[in-house]
Amino acid sequence: MRTLRTVLLALAMVLAGAGAANAAAPATWSPPANLVTPLNQVWQHQEQTYNNGNLYAFRNYGWDQIMANGGYINYCVRWDSSATVTTAQRDQIHATVARQYKKWMDELTGHNAWPYANVPVKVVGWAVRNRSQLQWTDTSVDITVNNINENAPQCAPPCGRFFNQNGQYPNCPGGVARHYDQSLWLTDGFGGGAGGDWGQRIGREYYMANLNTDNIHILLHEMGHTWGLDDFYDWTPTGVGGFLMKAGSATSLTEFDAWMFRDWWRHLKSRYGY
Ligand SMILES: [Zn+2]
Repeated sequence: MRTLRTVLLALAMVLAGAGAANAAAPATWSPPANLVTPLNQVWQHQEQTYNNGNLYAFRNYGWDQIMANGGYINYCVRWDSSATVTTAQRDQIHATVARQYKKWMDELTGHNAWPYANVPVKVVGWAVRNRSQLQWTDTSVDITVNNINENAPQCAPPCGRFFNQNGQYPNCPGGVARHYDQSLWLTDGFGGGAGGDWGQRIGREYYMANLNTDNIHILLHEMGHTWGLDDFYDWTPTGVGGFLMKAGSATSLTEFDAWMFRDWWRHLKSRYGY
């Protein structure tokens, strides 16, 4: 019996960990009963540990960015690489980040007064060390050459949300339309990832090898940080198995990830008049 019990428990854990979030978000704040306690634990932990105990004073979460725009997000690609990029690769890189972004957005569609049915994601700029690495001649994106910060190319600071958190871009040549909210920072030989209000950083080789992968799980995890979600290196909420924000324990958004995400909206939406 012990063996059977162990097998059943293991199977239950696999199923719980693999439980993909529903495609259609519930209309109201209505987490399953078994997630209520861990969700409360997570929110309390975030309130206690973020921003010196004042989570609500920070004003550049992904939420602030999307609401300032009225429902879209612009990206800069920081091409922190010696590789060249074809026009087709440029367009694939754009399509891929948009497709991954949508996986988070779908968890809000129709949920708890979230106002957007569709959130366009546009790459408006590229940063590169040498213009000759980019093999296109059209002007569909703004290109910043050899503006090095943190030992990597960055798009023009006057166009970046991180540098202009009042949402005004008076010195961005393309104005608000060509401002960027987040950077997709792709670094040669970079293992793992990093994410924050500034965007997401992952390995260039990893990203390019996964352009057609359904769930680019490191990128999805780092996008979670842009939305404010936490890491779980040193603790696990009660009664939940694998989930994307617990690094290495899931490879796609789970129901628990989706509810942690919706909990951010629940707590911040009054900030935007909802
Ligand atoms: Zn993380």
